[in-house]
Amino acid sequence: MTATRPRPLVAGNWKMNGLIKGVNELDAIATGVAAGEAGSAEVLVCPPFTLVSRFSAEAAGQHIKIGAQDCHAEASGAHTGDISAEMLKDAGASYVIVGHSERRTDHAETDAQVKAKAEAALRAHLVAIVCIGETRNERESGKTLDVVGTQLAGSLPAGATGANTVIAYEPVWAIGTGLTPTAADVKQVHDFIRAGLVERLGDEGHNVRILYGGSVKPANCVELMGVDNVDGALVGGASLKAADFLGIAAAYR
Ligand code: PEP
Repeated sequence: MTATRPRPLVAGNWKMNGLIKGVNELDAIATGVAAGEAGSAEVLVCPPFTLVSRFSAEAAGQHIKIGAQDCHAEASGAHTGDISAEMLKDAGASYVIVGHSERRTDHAETDAQVKAKAEAALRAHLVAIVCIGETRNERESGKTLDVVGTQLAGSLPAGATGANTVIAYEPVWAIGTGLTPTAADVKQVHDFIRAGLVERLGDEGHNVRILYGGSVKPANCVELMGVDNVDGALVGGASLKAADFLGIAAAYR
């Protein structure tokens, strides 16, 4: 990491977990952040849709941001059960994750759909966290960079800047499995993503944060966050407990 790197981001993806009582965990995270436990990192919690408004109200005035885990590509209309980026903004969110591998797998989301969602996020003045990453088969057959390059090219929103877009590299085989790539493997992919961003965005590509995600824990975060071109973490399971999540953010203390 160089002195010119953007402010790191440690983001928690609660997935389909959390009830209103989970606000206690959010408070504990915010208290830790206020006490300096996250150091220089920006801290974000992305609860399920049902908690975005409640958590945003709780986080108001605290040094913690709230985001969502998906949005529709359109602002409004006949899309039963869907939520638009405008609605998320209205509910207090400042970020939205798009293209998480669980959405790509469970809902067959394509790069073009992910791109359209990211562009909807930008229109609504949300920061889009665009997820990309290879499956185990793709890695084992030597296709990691091809897959990541194709997903980046297909999912990056038009008008991406460091202020409105974050890329999350999440190897699918590392999500929720306890497995992680080696630091050298992470460096190879993050350097490749950085080069792809600079190719598309010019110098602005240096300002887009690239998060690593996949089984990040307090025990491995210092090594992973210390890799060149790793500008933070997208954390699933370990973000549900304030102590673990703050233990990860502490890599930036
Ligand atoms: C995720 O779902 O984005 C994720 C990284 O999950 P986990 O940290 O549990 O592997």
